[in-house]
Amino acid sequence: MYRKVAIVTGANRGLGHALTKALAEDDYKVFMVGRNKIEIDNASAKFQEAGLDVEGFEADISKSRHVTALSSYVQSQFDHLDLLINNAGVIIEPGGLESQVTCFTINPELVETAYSINAVGALRLVQAFYDLLKKGRQPRIVNVSSGMGALNGIKGGWPAYRMSKAALNTLTGILAIELEDTRIKVNAVCPGWVKTDMGGPNATRSIEEGIAGILWAAKLPADGPSGGFFRDGKPIDW
Ligand code: NDP
Repeated sequence: MYRKVAIVTGANRGLGHALTKALAEDDYKVFMVGRNKIEIDNASAKFQEAGLDVEGFEADISKSRHVTALSSYVQSQFDHLDLLINNAGVIIEPGGLESQVTCFTINPELVETAYSINAVGALRLVQAFYDLLKKGRQPRIVNVSSGMGALNGIKGGWPAYRMSKAALNTLTGILAIELEDTRIKVNAVCPGWVKTDMGGPNATRSIEEGIAGILWAAKLPADGPSGGFFRDGKPIDW
């Protein structure tokens, strides 16, 4: 019997954790990726106890060898992949959403690290899973991005986050063109401002509301869009 297989990065907490649960409840086998072994093992063990078919895997997506190891592991079990959700991300600016850091005060090394996680991390995963995705029945890539990376109406502050999410959006556009001749669809999705560790308690959306638009892009039908930027299933400006 065909098994739907998904990979969710940053699955130990926040949106990635909730996405894993929703997908596993929809009969996907979910590989939960996290950079902290104890946290990803604990999170996956709890889901397994609840009867969900998930597996935790320790990988830091900013490290190519970790992503290669993840890909080898998944390939040892499955010959296809249906869904890759590039969800892992950081606001690396000290203070997070409260940060007062500007382009003039941010440490450039931090910007490089933000790129390596928020943008190049997604590229690493796409490269590592391209062959498996091509063999999926309705393969989808969802890049979890942010309106803060949109150029239209751009504001000051959070330079590492904004620049790296803009790069993730660019990657989404390039990939859509390069995947035109395949069945793989790729879209960027902003979840809105969500109550997670990153979004903080003042955020306007629940985690359930935040994941809805990501799940929409994850399950697009064959005639669905590719190469777009969406919130709640509706196009938003790049
Ligand atoms: P959280 O901070 O709650 O979770 C982020 C997740 O990403 C954690 O699991 C974290 O792991 C993981 N992660 C970070 N860096 C790496 C890495 N190098 N390798 C592997 N995993 C990593 O954030 P959210 O759940 O809120 O955010 C999920 C996504 O949604 C992010 O891409 C974020 O930018 C985006 N987003 C969120 C918004 C919000 O309001 N919450 C708004 C717009 C976009 P660890 O626990 O080890 O740090």
